[in-house]
Amino acid sequence: MKTRFAPSPTGYLHIGGARTALFNYVYAKHNGGKFVLRIEDTDFERSEKIFEEDIIESLKWMSIISDEEILHQSKRLSIYNSYVEKLLKEGKAYYCFCSKELLEEDRNKLTAENKKPMYIGRCRELKPDAERLKTPHVIRFKVDRETGSATFFKDLIRNQVISIENKEIDDFVIVREDGIPTYNFAVVIDDALSGITHVLRGDDHVSNTPKQIMLYNALGFKVPEFAHVSMILGPDGKRLSKRHGATSVIQYKKDGFLPEALVNYLIRLGWSHGNDEILSMDEIIKFFDLKNISKSAAIFNTEKLLWLNSHYIKSKDPFALISLINDISEDSQTKLNEDVKTAALVDSLKSRSKTLVELRQKLDFFLNKKVEYDAGVINEFNFNRNDADFLSAFKNFIVNLDDKIFTDAKNMDGLKLSIESIKNSFNDFLSQNGWTMKEKAMIIRLAFTGEKVSPPIYEMIFSLGKERCVERIEAFLCR
Ligand code: GLU
Repeated sequence: MKTRFAPSPTGYLHIGGARTALFNYVYAKHNGGKFVLRIEDTDFERSEKIFEEDIIESLKWMSIISDEEILHQSKRLSIYNSYVEKLLKEGKAYYCFCSKELLEEDRNKLTAENKKPMYIGRCRELKPDAERLKTPHVIRFKVDRETGSATFFKDLIRNQVISIENKEIDDFVIVREDGIPTYNFAVVIDDALSGITHVLRGDDHVSNTPKQIMLYNALGFKVPEFAHVSMILGPDGKRLSKRHGATSVIQYKKDGFLPEALVNYLIRLGWSHGNDEILSMDEIIKFFDLKNISKSAAIFNTEKLLWLNSHYIKSKDPFALISLINDISEDSQTKLNEDVKTAALVDSLKSRSKTLVELRQKLDFFLNKKVEYDAGVINEFNFNRNDADFLSAFKNFIVNLDDKIFTDAKNMDGLKLSIESIKNSFNDFLSQNGWTMKEKAMIIRLAFTGEKVSPPIYEMIFSLGKERCVERIEAFLCR
């Protein structure tokens, strides 16, 4: 088995394309086959290198990697040409010199007669000489017009035979006026020569499939299996587009989504394995089949993607999270240190963050030199003389903490011990003074971060360290 993903590099890789690529990849892997990537870049005006790079990078980020060298259609024009020659020689294709105006006129006439507007075959039997061939022309495929002839295929997802009478199909163009083959032609040559056995693609290509099958047959190639995936809709039931927010894979990456979450989300968008919601790539490959792909359109649900993202963030090691956050932070000045102090906070915040961006924002208090104290927030609490006394005592408590607590923790195990020590000492300090955590937590949060919500107190003490804790308490008292 061999599958492929064949994007046109005319835009960033979007969610729909990524899902099609994923389906192809896991289907091949499930069956011990190969997956290949082909760049369909024959639309020279709209294709751009940066989109191609984005597509390859985005797929790589999702662990979807081509098993063979990536083909570029733009480099294969002579191959397509040789097959065009073959069809011309065998009388299965012909030159067409009809002008746009003439074609338009013919179509209008048919429409006026309530008939389907199609090419009426003016040039079908023409035998142009060399002089004529110097004038603008396209090359058309000669569709078998024998009465009653039809083209059909069994769609593996819809699980039904799709059949179309040949009389409904135009003698379609296979080479444009500029000499470049059309999508329908190049795709057949490439899929056939690459030995693609299964073509899984968006259902916007259903109507192209009969044309492609005609070409396979005319060229004596084995016809692959076809499966068309239904599209992805936005919550409003309209085709997913930029209007619905981020649609490119790269934007999801920048917005702090993990590739595992996006892969898991996309595979479940239109495919299911019982009630399993959380699936790793290995599990997906193990269980994937076409039978359980939904026939109807899928609706994109950001909440569910966020839920999966939280799950994967929660299950990651804090150091891995630090490097993932650094990966997406554009400004090298704001990179996180890969040390235990940062890891302590990341670890304590990971279960409260739906995206890496959110997690990173929660670290602002730690990265910023100073805290901005917002009077509006602070005045919600009626702090008084007693609270100031508490903070002074708390400051002394911090100063007197054993320095080893801060210096000994070299890894996550060491960190656990340090947090445990801080916790024990702090609880002793509170109970000796008849205070409780519940009463005092808010003022500490506000002093350390300026916010009502913060990471746990012990982790903050550890990560900020003695000096910065003291600085903040003093700054809060003097605000
Ligand atoms: N380049 C085509 C597209 O992006 C490929 C379609 C196909 O998979 O055959 O729509």
